[in-house]
Amino acid sequence: NARTIRVELAGRSYDIAIGPGLIDQAGALCRPLLAAPKVTIVSDETVAPLYGARLAASFDKAGIKASTVTVPAGETSKEFGAFGKLMNELLDQRPDRKTTLVALGGGVVGDLTGFAAAVLLRGVDFIQVPTTLLAQVDSSVGGKTGINTRHGKNLVGAFYQPRLVLADTEVLDTLPRRELLAGYAEVAKYGLIDDPDFFAWCETNGGAVLSGDAAKRTYAIEQSCLAKARIVAADERETTDLRALLNLGHTFGHALEAEIGFGGELLHGEAVGTGMAMAFDLSARLGLCPQADADRVRRHLGSVGLPMRLRAIGGDNRRKWEAARLIEHMRGDKKADGGKLTFILARGIGKAFVTREVDEAALRGLLDDAL
Ligand code: NAD
Ligand code: ZN
Repeated sequence: NARTIRVELAGRSYDIAIGPGLIDQAGALCRPLLAAPKVTIVSDETVAPLYGARLAASFDKAGIKASTVTVPAGETSKEFGAFGKLMNELLDQRPDRKTTLVALGGGVVGDLTGFAAAVLLRGVDFIQVPTTLLAQVDSSVGGKTGINTRHGKNLVGAFYQPRLVLADTEVLDTLPRRELLAGYAEVAKYGLIDDPDFFAWCETNGGAVLSGDAAKRTYAIEQSCLAKARIVAADERETTDLRALLNLGHTFGHALEAEIGFGGELLHGEAVGTGMAMAFDLSARLGLCPQADADRVRRHLGSVGLPMRLRAIGGDNRRKWEAARLIEHMRGDKKADGGKLTFILARGIGKAFVTREVDEAALRGLLDDAL
């Protein structure tokens, strides 16, 4: 019951296989794509003990020599210093141009390994085995790889496509609930951007996706990857506004993240969930979108357990949110161009569009009411 979709990019297309138990088939699935039967698995200290041995055994069974390099779990592994350390550890394995890197982990490991593959020996192949829902539906599609600097996240990197993505739906069973929900916000996002039927499907089936129904998980991941691949194929290097649609909820979300700091109090996907509700509220407030649609967004995302109220974020140590500070963060966002804030608003569910013409008084009003 695995599904395979093909991402078609100019000259470099690849498959995304989705389904339960794919880790155990990785050797057989990867073997035909390898330039030589040797891989180095890159994973983190949480995921490696859970799935590293199974993945290595699957390579071994297919006659592929596998070594493993492990990095600490979490965003700090995307820092420059950590990246340098990883590069040296990869070189300790004596790779050659025919070595393939395999990213086993969430978006951190995927972004890091993809960038390492882009520059190791001036470029080796890489394969993604994403283990978070966010990585399966978002970061493993589209070819953005990179690391962080003190100037901001993902400012050093490369567009570099994997040879194959293996999304095993079963590995999500060990993912903490909050991480799963954070990924789910990005799933629902694809429906809200341009696929109202998929959002309606999410309203009915989101609970089952989250509680582990394999067929529904596979479908949700497949639809998400198809949606992202469709948008990325049309705008691979983010040269038009099209790819910006993927940032629905992100102008608000990034402002919340920036205000809170990237310390785990608010996960990216949680911020995006709240941000999408705010984007629909703003659209309704501006008379662009029926209020009933904005209500549906809030109702569904809230019902699965995403934080919808800013007051609910941060638990007991309540934070004093200020509209002016949030707007300042929006201006600091790299997506703000020429001083104008870029928003993804909507004319309804599945009717998102990009605009730089948002009335600041309306924005302030919305934020003041939300706080
Ligand atoms: P992550 O990689 O840090 O994973 C979250 C946590 O879950 C980690 O502690 C990890 O060890 C743990 N984990 C992973 N899989 C697990 C499993 N199956 N069972 C138990 N624990 C597991 O975070 P993430 O949310 O996957 O990714 C966030 C990163 O992705 C950010 O750095 C972000 O910039 C990047 N990102 C990139 C793109 C892109 O297009 N390249 C898109 C979105 C996000
Ligand atoms: Zn996101």
